[in-house]
Amino acid sequence: MVPDATGAGLTSQRARDRLVRLLEGQGIRDPRVLEAIRSIPRHLFVEEALSHRAYENTALPIGHRQTISQPFIVARMTEALLEGERPRTVLEIGTGSGYQAAVLAQIVDRVFSVERIQALSRNARELLSRLGINNVNLRHSDGADGWPDKAPFDGIILTAAPKEVPEALLTQLALGGRLVAPVEGPDGRQQLVRYTRTEEAYVRDILDAVMFVPMLPGAEQ
Ligand code: SAH
Repeated sequence: MVPDATGAGLTSQRARDRLVRLLEGQGIRDPRVLEAIRSIPRHLFVEEALSHRAYENTALPIGHRQTISQPFIVARMTEALLEGERPRTVLEIGTGSGYQAAVLAQIVDRVFSVERIQALSRNARELLSRLGINNVNLRHSDGADGWPDKAPFDGIILTAAPKEVPEALLTQLALGGRLVAPVEGPDGRQQLVRYTRTEEAYVRDILDAVMFVPMLPGAEQ
């Protein structure tokens, strides 16, 4: 368990256990995902004024007009990524608060996460280091390019919605690897899509309807 994970009242281990039971009730089954959510202190990843709401199953603001995803969605996407062989390396696009990266870091060997807003990337770096989570590498850049030096990845997860999954990301997926992304359709609605790379093709399946902030071009300070 990471330090700082116990707290009082609404930010306590009991609050986290309740959230985990709720997620189980919503159909999250993978014990690795449930255990990771049980151990990561989500209240430290949201603005302090909102920490009492951190274990509600809801998205919350993290500044810079961005949000930390709803715990159910974090769990669902992580589960979708883990199905089959355990990925050793995962690339995340959209570090945000660093919560999704922290959850993944409990399960896979190494997480690489890219964020286009420098202040968010910097805050996430500080927090992850404070929690002693040291298998996450962060980078401030446009996630549409992926992280070519570290490719291929067994898993890729996008936590901001593009209109189409950038080609560069698909090519950075290892054979047998899975990419999970919210993709915005022409009607503005988003669907969670999973691509599995096989010898012959990228096999695409559609999972759920979702609601993410858009994937934006370029990096900003
Ligand atoms: N995974 C995050 C939630 C992220 S919200 C968490 O656990 O808190 C989506 C994030 O994607 C935002 O921080 C936004 O700045 C970032 N983003 C949007 N477009 C991006 C891009 N092209 N490259 C990298 N990050 C991007």
